[in-house]
Amino acid sequence: MATTVITNISSLVTNDPSLGAGPLGLIEDAAVVVDGDRVAWVGTVGGAPAADERVDAGGRAVLPGFVDSHSHLVFAGDRTAEFNARMSGRSYSAGGIRVTVAATRAASDEELAANLRRYLREALRQGTTTLETKSGYGLTVEQEARALRIAAAQTDEVTYLGAHIVPPDHADDPAGYVDLVTGPMLDACAPHARWIDVFCEKGAFDGDQARTILTAGAARGLVPRVHANQLSYGPGVQLAVELGAASADHCTHLTDADVDALASGDTVATLLPGAEFSTRAQWPNARRLLDAGATVALSTDCNPGSSFTSSMPFCVALAVRDMGMTPDEAVWAATAGGAAALRRTDIGRLSPGARADLALLDAPSHVHLAYRPGVPLVSAVWRRGVREL
Ligand SMILES: [Zn+2]
Repeated sequence: MATTVITNISSLVTNDPSLGAGPLGLIEDAAVVVDGDRVAWVGTVGGAPAADERVDAGGRAVLPGFVDSHSHLVFAGDRTAEFNARMSGRSYSAGGIRVTVAATRAASDEELAANLRRYLREALRQGTTTLETKSGYGLTVEQEARALRIAAAQTDEVTYLGAHIVPPDHADDPAGYVDLVTGPMLDACAPHARWIDVFCEKGAFDGDQARTILTAGAARGLVPRVHANQLSYGPGVQLAVELGAASADHCTHLTDADVDALASGDTVATLLPGAEFSTRAQWPNARRLLDAGATVALSTDCNPGSSFTSSMPFCVALAVRDMGMTPDEAVWAATAGGAAALRRTDIGRLSPGARADLALLDAPSHVHLAYRPGVPLVSAVWRRGVREL
């Protein structure tokens, strides 16, 4: 299999402290050797073994491809008018997830697949090499299973989110909808998904309903992750930790007990600053979580309603500017943190044996991701050892 050496890297983020400085395992004047779809070697330029091909990074920075562990990209339509009204201080009664549910149900398989392909490509151009995505805009047995089939054809990390909201057709019978989500819908969806998720929030699903849904999913081999404590204080985070969820996502409104639970358990706290940005909401306090010892991931939450960004660099910049993270912590959270939230050890790091997913920045350091917000710094991307950009 052909080998490639990427050399003359000013600063390489490996996320392996045994290979370089600090938690990022930074190596200066570095080189990486890729063999097939794997990293074969990393170190300083002088020690690099010979390879079939040579790429000169030109004194620029390389980091692991971003791992975006939370998105909602099987959908149709958009919600421009709702966003415009919200940002213009106007009320907008026709908005919400239900608009996207109606558009998604009406779309063909081909439209949904093409839409997903477009956003995956958009994310790749910004350095994302792994992207989780969810169902949740179909909310019938057939529509949820269709969404997951379409997602699984294009991405490895697929989450069943039949419990996104109680759909209008079940407004008078939420218990009946929970029965559907844990019964026939789960039967149809489980073969296409790795994860099960619930929107645990006032107006969506309460703690008891969320427990029932996540437990049913776990019994079918799906691993829980939870939309928790986004809009208000609530039971989501504690439930996630208790059930051994891979991740509690949002974590915007946390009590001290919630923070302690995240710090002492294996559940990753995934922060989604695009949502707070796009709704002018209070920022999650990343500093508090990190100081307590929690593992923090950053993700886009890309969806047409509350966070229509696919940009991990944008989330890194927000986390540094407004959530108390250092640039190093934010870059770790967007790469290794996302991998932890997906329980993956083959991505989010650049050490021998890892998947060869790399982003080359048009900048000398990963710090520029926060220092130069809004600038398209990602200039090349390799995924599974193949140059995609
Ligand atoms: Zn979400």
